Amino acid sequence: MRTMTDPLRFTGSFTQQDPIPEDGIAAAVAVMRHGRLHRYNLAPGEVGEVAALEEEFAAFVGARYCLAVASGGAAMTLALRAAGVGPGDGVLSNAFTLAPVPGAIHAVGARAVFVETTQDLTIDLAHLAAQAQATGARVLLLSHMRGHMADMDALMAWANAAGVAVIEDCAHTMGATWNGVPSGRHGLAGCYSTQTYKHMNSGEGGLIVTDDAGLMARAILLSGSYMLYDRHRAAPPPAAFEGLRLDMPNISSRMDNLRAAVLRPQLALLPERCGAWTERYRVVEDGLRGVPGVALIERPAAEGFVGSSFQFRLPGWPAPAIAALVAGCRARGVELKWFGAADPQGYTSAYRHWRFADPVPLPRTDAVLAGLLDMRLPLTFTLDDCRLIARIIAEEVTASNAARRAAE
Ligand SMILES: *Cc1c(COP(=O)(O)O)cnc(C)c1O
Repeated sequence: MRTMTDPLRFTGSFTQQDPIPEDGIAAAVAVMRHGRLHRYNLAPGEVGEVAALEEEFAAFVGARYCLAVASGGAAMTLALRAAGVGPGDGVLSNAFTLAPVPGAIHAVGARAVFVETTQDLTIDLAHLAAQAQATGARVLLLSHMRGHMADMDALMAWANAAGVAVIEDCAHTMGATWNGVPSGRHGLAGCYSTQTYKHMNSGEGGLIVTDDAGLMARAILLSGSYMLYDRHRAAPPPAAFEGLRLDMPNISSRMDNLRAAVLRPQLALLPERCGAWTERYRVVEDGLRGVPGVALIERPAAEGFVGSSFQFRLPGWPAPAIAALVAGCRARGVELKWFGAADPQGYTSAYRHWRFADPVPLPRTDAVLAGLLDMRLPLTFTLDDCRLIARIIAEEVTASNAARRAAE
């Protein structure tokens, strides 16, 4: 029998991904055997793994053009620069996002204009309009942070009317949709990451998609294509590069054939894997539904989300109680990340920690982040693992509720 001194524990790893598919391993070994790892090092008639990945990813999301690059951060930096953002420009962005987003804005010499966050963890559309008006910023780097999408129909209607170009950060929404439209296909360009903790894993890597020939030509030249842009397949024709090729600097940010070889078989499996994530998400959600003190984030019907991570709120909880809950869960093997922590930890930082971006306090975002908890759901977790994780959190929340009631 289980007693209070012998509670259920979870022993899995929140940072252990599933392995690369065998055909990805075989393709990577083939690249290493022939030695042509650089994307432009091709045998006569050879397409190359990177060019093939770009073609396949463009087809997957229904985009005309795609460029594979070195990281998600590089994808956003190149997309901003190719969209004409330069030193001193204001770029609107979510306050609730990860550090590479303001980092990309900073990398092009621009100024992040942070926008408030709703309780559903999406960008606050009223504050977005107010910030655009107040600053004159004409580009929005929209981060679908932790997979939560704003009402994209309303957002794009506003952006089109206001003349604001939207670049989507789809690091957490690769494979997701809003009203059937793939994430990354709503605005001017979409940026994705293939870093280990995202939906496809090449260690590091990124992708840019767009239908805009000029933007893609500039991005390809910026990525460091030398004069070899005709070796791209998901790219505009050489004429699109003519007036640009001597003007764009080379900011070497290419993807290599080894990473693309590892990614192509994962793309084929992506829809199935997205389904498996969301199944795990729903199990955790079911396990926490109705637990007093826990606020779930209800997902809109229009959102075809990918549940690769799970968030919940503890509204009104005092900070020491949340810190104690995180510690209690950790002692039982459940790793929760708390966005309200005073100091940034691991991957979890908040906008107020990005001193390089000179953030202005945002009281509504602060109130949301103060009670926001987050955890990864890697595909190495079984559905039973997810049930156990939810049960441990529910027990710890219930114990915390009782302790605080007793202290009153
Ligand atoms: C991971 C991530 C990125 C891109 O990160 P890289 O590590 O540069 O690939 C962008 N936005 C968000 C929200 C992320 O979590």
